[in-house]
Amino acid sequence: MQNLEIIRPGDPTWDLARMPWNVAVDQQPAMVVTVRDVDDVVAAVKHAAAEGLAVTAQPNGHGATSALDGTMLLRTSPLDEISVDVAARSARVGAGVKWGTLLAHLDGTGLIALAGSSPDVTVVGYLLGGGLSWFTRKYGPASRSVTAIELVDANGELHRVTDGELFWALRGGGGEFGIVTAVEFDLYEEPLLTGGKLMFPGEQAAAVLGAVGELSAVAPRELTLWAGITHFPPIPDVPEPLRGNTFAVVDVTYLGSEAALTPLLYTIRQAGTAVHDTVGAVPVSRLGEIAAEPVDPMPALDSSMLLHRFDGDVIERLLAVVGKGSGTALTVAAVRHLGGAYAEPGRDGVAGPHDASHLLFLLGVAAFPGAPEAIAASFAAVRQAMGPECAPRVPVNFLGGRGIDAAYTTADLDRLRAVKRQVDPAGRIRGNRPLY
Ligand SMILES: Cc1cc2nc3c(=O)[nH]c(=O)nc-3n(C[C@H](O)[C@H](O)[C@H](O)COP(=O)(O)OP(=O)(O)OC[C@H]3O[C@@H](n4cnc5c(N)ncnc54)[C@H](O)[C@@H]3O)c2cc1C
Repeated sequence: MQNLEIIRPGDPTWDLARMPWNVAVDQQPAMVVTVRDVDDVVAAVKHAAAEGLAVTAQPNGHGATSALDGTMLLRTSPLDEISVDVAARSARVGAGVKWGTLLAHLDGTGLIALAGSSPDVTVVGYLLGGGLSWFTRKYGPASRSVTAIELVDANGELHRVTDGELFWALRGGGGEFGIVTAVEFDLYEEPLLTGGKLMFPGEQAAAVLGAVGELSAVAPRELTLWAGITHFPPIPDVPEPLRGNTFAVVDVTYLGSEAALTPLLYTIRQAGTAVHDTVGAVPVSRLGEIAAEPVDPMPALDSSMLLHRFDGDVIERLLAVVGKGSGTALTVAAVRHLGGAYAEPGRDGVAGPHDASHLLFLLGVAAFPGAPEAIAASFAAVRQAMGPECAPRVPVNFLGGRGIDAAYTTADLDRLRAVKRQVDPAGRIRGNRPLY
């Protein structure tokens, strides 16, 4: 029997061990186990079964959950295997590997992987939720590129899954089906990557976002625009000149040269006076610097919705509730441009809601008493302002505080639940988005 590294309530390191990245969530599992290798995962699942506990994997805690009663929390970060096969254009990573670490292995190969905005998120956690990538408009949701998943099942047995219902469920259905130990997926030949951030004074948001809306309606699949409003809080941690100020922000990636991108960005640059413009060639290892999301633990609250359109009056209604001077409690309100391959059926995987033009992402930082209530009121104000432009569902990686039925069609949810009943009838494995 493996000698597991178990931390229990009352141990000196308990509070540190149970703390997630999202420190707004007070996690109280039954115990925390840091697994060093696959044998540890097998032993941990068997140990949990012997003690009558459920098991959940949480390398980071970006998707922290307070529903951990009677649950062993597995820290999978030490599963750090990475191999990249340049000739075969494929990668294999362990369950603890973060996107930033994998991308650093791709510099100089001419290959990209379907990463999202944050280098700090694990590849496995992101892929289990479908994976909305910078490059999804050209290559589809990232989970469609997955070719094999290795996992320890509810009985503590290791499997390699490459097809069938379980494989379908794992690519977008979340962490409910086993403790994943490694994943393999395709890489894509894209030797030219251009991108960066444009920032304009908050007063220019209507014109800038209007130009973004117009361009995103006709953009080639190689171009992805993520744009919105950022209110930097007036706190010492935020450097001048950002501190306490509001900006219209446009984050860009383009699978092509800077020379080809420049004319595409002309109308956006003309719409305001950029105070910051970093657009240029980027090595894939620096992809995470484009959105430049915080990597340090923080008390974050988020809410997202899919929009059917992002143009004139939608932008006007949005800025009325989140723009400069609106009094919003949100730090970020930004749209992610969808369409292209994202909207098309691809290699079989959980469908997810693809019938929208943009994803609107809202983020508040609950840094002081009363902030959670103010942020919730701001979420509600945006939802009301967007009204009929909101699609009913949202990708599971952006579910925020909504229930699981907001992420899937009824048919897909039934199918996911059938797989769960088949592979884990006792409900031993618990994801942060329970299917029941
Ligand atoms: C700053 C930031 C930026 C983001 N940007 C994007 C983006 O661009 N695109 C996108 O699609 N999503 C994005 N997300 C959402 C992110 O992909 C999900 O929150 C994802 O679940 C995080 O995975 P994690 O392993 O880092 O977090 P954790 O909270 O550690 O894990 C989240 C859940 O993933 C499951 N899980 C993780 N590892 C395993 C495993 N080994 N076996 C079984 N289940 C497992 C579990 O259910 C776990 O509760 C972002 C999140 C943040 C915080």
